Amino acid sequence: MSDSPAAPPVRLRPEIAALPAYKQGRHADAAAYKLSSNENPFAPLPGVLAAIAAADDINRYPDAAATRLRQALAGRWDVEVDAVHVAAGSVSILSQLLSAVAGPGDEIVYAWRSFEAYPLLVTVTGAASVTVPVSAEGRHDLDAMAAAVGERTRAVLVCSPNNPTGPAVHRDELEAFLARVPADVLVVLDEAYAEFVTDPRAVDGLSGLPYRDRANVVVLRTFSKAYGLAGLRIGYAIGDPRVLDAARSTAIPLSVTGHAEVAALASLECEDQLLERVHALARRRDELAQALRDAGWRVPDAQGNFVWLAAGEQTMDVAAAFDAGGIVVRPFAGDGIRISVGEEESVEKVVRIAASVVENLPPEHEGRALAWGK
Ligand SMILES: *Cc1c(COP(=O)(O)O)cnc(C)c1O
Repeated sequence: MSDSPAAPPVRLRPEIAALPAYKQGRHADAAAYKLSSNENPFAPLPGVLAAIAAADDINRYPDAAATRLRQALAGRWDVEVDAVHVAAGSVSILSQLLSAVAGPGDEIVYAWRSFEAYPLLVTVTGAASVTVPVSAEGRHDLDAMAAAVGERTRAVLVCSPNNPTGPAVHRDELEAFLARVPADVLVVLDEAYAEFVTDPRAVDGLSGLPYRDRANVVVLRTFSKAYGLAGLRIGYAIGDPRVLDAARSTAIPLSVTGHAEVAALASLECEDQLLERVHALARRRDELAQALRDAGWRVPDAQGNFVWLAAGEQTMDVAAAFDAGGIVVRPFAGDGIRISVGEEESVEKVVRIAASVVENLPPEHEGRALAWGK
């Protein structure tokens, strides 16, 4: 076989044929720390593992409606059960929502750089992406995003905290933004990292409750990050039941396994213990960000379980230095590097490598604190 991709044997939609093949955050060697996928470094709690082990009826299909988990989440957030939708990861819910609202000729607005799944999911619907650059501080420019909403816009994606740059959207910014977006345009508030947020001005889609008075807002949450269930694939949405019904209509039936559902239920039962870990990770994140700043990097406000180094043109070189030092990071060529907050012992290593490579950047490099008079 040759290395160049052969033409596919069947006729594909041209926009799908043009997509690059999916690349996952690399798996780490035994000696390396995998800080490339924003996973939770803590091992699952014994109670969660026990619940999974006890779910032995795998010859049966799961409950298609994930009723027990939806009831638990409805109680947790004080909403009706139909205002909760569960799927195999919150990315699945996003895909369902987008295919429910958009198709060829439509537009979906989101910030860039943001979550790498967004352009892909939009392309698959047949709609066009309209991207609005994040600020130099890695923040959503919600004024510009509101201005980008037009006749063809069917959805706006707001990622808070923004993966991969780090800052959260502020409540007042979101309020002003929602006031400008037509009430029949879906606004998805992707809060995959909500539990890690410590900025008091940040939006909290489920406590500030923008969706309660705005039926066009859907909040996405996940068990993958704070709750450490990335491998089981389970996330949820809270929103208007009529909007969520549309997502349910486009869902592939029975995608949420019984194991994922019982693990999520068990996680809600030991939520206090899990959130203690989240708080420890948030403190570790703040220490890591500060140490990187002290080393000479300009690090945007980090509100998730990751930090961002704007390595620009040097991104692949900097990533190679981390790699050589046993740290697997997530580089975005030409732009920057996302580093997850992982095991305690990884922090010192990350800082040591980051401190050694920052010296090789030109003094005016955008990733250097120096260039910003700091
Ligand atoms: C990780 C992540 C998700 C959630 O992924 P699932 O594992 O599918 O729940 C969603 N949005 C963003 C921005 C993420 O980083």
